[in-house]
Amino acid sequence: MYRTSPSPSSGRGRARRRLVAGCVAVAAALGLAACGTASGALQPAGTTGSTGSTGSTGSTGAVRSPGGSPAATIAPSPGADGAPPAAPSAAATTPAPHTTATRAPSTSPTPAPTPAQTGAATGSPAGEHAPPPGHGGAATVIGSTASGGRTVALTFDDGPGPATGQVLDLLAQYGAKATFCQIGQNAAANPALVKRVLAEGHRLCDHSVHHPQPFAKLPHDRAAYEITAARDMIVQAGGPGTRVGWFRAPGGGFNADNEQITASLGMSSLGWSVDPRDWSRPGVASIVSTVQHQLKPGGVVLLHDGGGDRSQTVAALKQLLPWLVAQGYTFDFPAS
Ligand SMILES: [Zn+2]
Repeated sequence: MYRTSPSPSSGRGRARRRLVAGCVAVAAALGLAACGTASGALQPAGTTGSTGSTGSTGSTGAVRSPGGSPAATIAPSPGADGAPPAAPSAAATTPAPHTTATRAPSTSPTPAPTPAQTGAATGSPAGEHAPPPGHGGAATVIGSTASGGRTVALTFDDGPGPATGQVLDLLAQYGAKATFCQIGQNAAANPALVKRVLAEGHRLCDHSVHHPQPFAKLPHDRAAYEITAARDMIVQAGGPGTRVGWFRAPGGGFNADNEQITASLGMSSLGWSVDPRDWSRPGVASIVSTVQHQLKPGGVVLLHDGGGDRSQTVAALKQLLPWLVAQGYTFDFPAS
């Protein structure tokens, strides 16, 4: 049931359109620039001052330089791969919703990207989230389970964080396995939770070090750093033998370059097929209803265990898990 060895060439491409459509829908619903936009500027604690939130759509998704960020305690991560707005209560790092990106600190050892390098961010849903036309983008992004059939893959992004324990408790109660797309610095700050995820039979996915957005606009070197270093941080937190099978680009910002980087590290690019926008705290009933209506056998559900107050997600999970079981679903991991 649960495949363990990723085979980069298999099972891909099925969900690209759903992913894109979902992102656009999210952006439209929010009236925001894009799926990942609202959270785009979320940075680790302490970065705000140095990077500044210009709010400029012309800025890039530049992030803190490697090693330059304080291990922000679980700062509200970035939320969403569906574009979570900044968490109101989150400390320190919550930029205003429309600050789409931040500039690299001038002291960054890595060259800050220039507009010429990254292209102008359009601020439009398509510009932020969807792969550029003809770019090859999401062609290999996975949006289905490994086994197909009446299975579902639950995925939790932006942790580990305060809600991770509750999510794990619920999953255990229903014998459900899930995939956790963790932010590198959160994993580094919460190694015990990473170990618990593994000990309880779940799997890990790389969700970048700092959750920069728009991720697809990052220069190659920065994207490579975000993907590689996060993978390393998660492995270090999980301990020897820790395997990270997937990479999910923040905000679903995949492109041919980051997909290639991901593949070169032996990971698969992971999208989703169901997005209840739990990060936006639309209400428990909304989260539950969206999953119930959008899920089809073999689907991948995008949820969040980090990035802000996840009480709605936890409450929704309490309803969704028994519903999934009653509907005859079995829990699977994403294809790889
Ligand atoms: Zn995320």
